[in-house]
Amino acid sequence: MSASRQNPAILIAEDDPGSRTATRLFLQRFGYRVGEATDGPGTLREASLGRYDLVLLDLGLPGLDGEDVLLRLRRDSALPVIVLTGRSEEQERIRLLDLGADDYIVKPFSLPELEARIRAVLRRGQPQPASGRIEHGDLVVDRHTHRVTKAGKPIELTPKEFDLLAFLAANPDQVFTREELLP
Ligand code: CA
Repeated sequence: MSASRQNPAILIAEDDPGSRTATRLFLQRFGYRVGEATDGPGTLREASLGRYDLVLLDLGLPGLDGEDVLLRLRRDSALPVIVLTGRSEEQERIRLLDLGADDYIVKPFSLPELEARIRAVLRRGQPQPASGRIEHGDLVVDRHTHRVTKAGKPIELTPKEFDLLAFLAANPDQVFTREELLP
């Protein structure tokens, strides 16, 4: 991730000019920086420049099969990818996630929903706060001092409980299985 403090940069890989422009204008209104690509090879070239925080990838691009573009993006970078697909079958969606898409949205989609998904994917990729201090409501977890307070009152925890709580507080919008939490 570019880790810049600037607004996130999105690469829109879409060959349909109308839909590309509508997406670009919408995202720019939200403050995103936007670049464009109109075919498969151009998408890979543009993505390799290291300027982007996320790729919106239309699966039906000319020049290279969309799944190949996805596979190569996955092989060559850690850039998050949201796939724009015209196919809504469950098998197809599962396949996209298996190929490494971070998310997908089925066309025709609503631009506000697309923007919400972009935000969610970018949030997942964010580095932990450098201060080590995580606040969630009235809960404060300090990972440097290993102290936890709730509404200003200290809470006593075992080291294991502390690690679990710190992890959950740092990933507030995600659901984890028991196996992921307690390996
Ligand atoms: Ca297309």
